[in-house]
Amino acid sequence: MLPSFAIRALSFAVAAAMATACGSRPQAPPTFELSGSTMGTRYVVKVVGGGGDVEAERALAELVEAELTHVDELMSTYRAESELSRFNRHADLTPFAVSEATFEVFAEAARISDWTDGAFDITVGPLVEAWGFGASPASAPPSDVQVESLRQRVGFAKLQLDASTRSVRKLDPAVEGDLSAIAKGYAVDRVAEALEAAGFPRFMVEVGGEVRVGGTNDAGAPWRIAIEQPDAVSFQTIVPLVDAAVATSGDYRNFYEWEGGRVSHTIDPRTGRPVEHALASVTVVSGRCVTADALATALSVLGPDDGYRFAVANDVAALMLTRWAGGGFDERSTPAFQRLLDEAGVR
Ligand code: ADP
Ligand code: MG
Repeated sequence: MLPSFAIRALSFAVAAAMATACGSRPQAPPTFELSGSTMGTRYVVKVVGGGGDVEAERALAELVEAELTHVDELMSTYRAESELSRFNRHADLTPFAVSEATFEVFAEAARISDWTDGAFDITVGPLVEAWGFGASPASAPPSDVQVESLRQRVGFAKLQLDASTRSVRKLDPAVEGDLSAIAKGYAVDRVAEALEAAGFPRFMVEVGGEVRVGGTNDAGAPWRIAIEQPDAVSFQTIVPLVDAAVATSGDYRNFYEWEGGRVSHTIDPRTGRPVEHALASVTVVSGRCVTADALATALSVLGPDDGYRFAVANDVAALMLTRWAGGGFDERSTPAFQRLLDEAGVR
């Protein structure tokens, strides 16, 4: 069985806290480092100034783990008793009251769906399952008839949010929520904000390749986040970041081959089928990781041309890698992404 949320392992290698200066520099504050498993993937947390004291380190570990567990227990589709699974079983038109955290994620999902005209859509779950990327592996892709019938249950407009009662109402009892493309980013934000609230503004938090950094690294320099080159072990680009989040969506970690073609885990809600374009990975930088995570998936759906146009028109900082037929990648970044690199003095 595939693990909870996302299935893709790390799409980033995180090169954090790298001292670039040769020669002497002031004594770096001790960094606390923690890693482990959550949401079916791995996480890494580094907290500058958080190391050195056993009791303080234990408290930091508890704080981080509490946030991650909270999100996993609420939003996993693999836990039968998660709030999301209970919502999915609620085949009823009456409003379903949810926790603050789940409501926040549904609300951000709805905002990104509106913004991207439905390219991002958390109701794609039944299609994700049918195409073999859910809890049970599929033996073959669904037929056109099955896809058409499942599409009747899909559409973000079938969910109605009510902030005053903090509830979500299904306008079609068969609709379900799948938060796999947004919950990791949300968990990263939760951990980042908990660290800030505890008095630690300098950190790097990463869950399954979605990253947020606070302040500078232990050398006092921007955190250096490496974006992996699809299909290879080398890095494509290093992005220097201060107080920002970055997420990558890609077709190269979680896919299967069928009749000579690549079947992606990103579903185009407009067709009910996995995306088929040559876009291999999309990286988005934003203030919040929940936004970066969802936008990266949305741009993956829109593809190399429409996605790029959308990102430019909406001032989204994005880096897109497209496969060349003969091998290799075409790298295209938006002006907003280029500004980030220019400001940091890269290229
Ligand atoms: P990626 O790194 O490629 O974004 P994620 O794990 O973050 O991978 O998201 C992929 C998951 O998102 C899929 O397995 C599926 O559950 C869900 N998903 C697929 N297509 C969409 C879509 N159009 N909108 C929202 N979620 C989607
Ligand atoms: Mg994602």
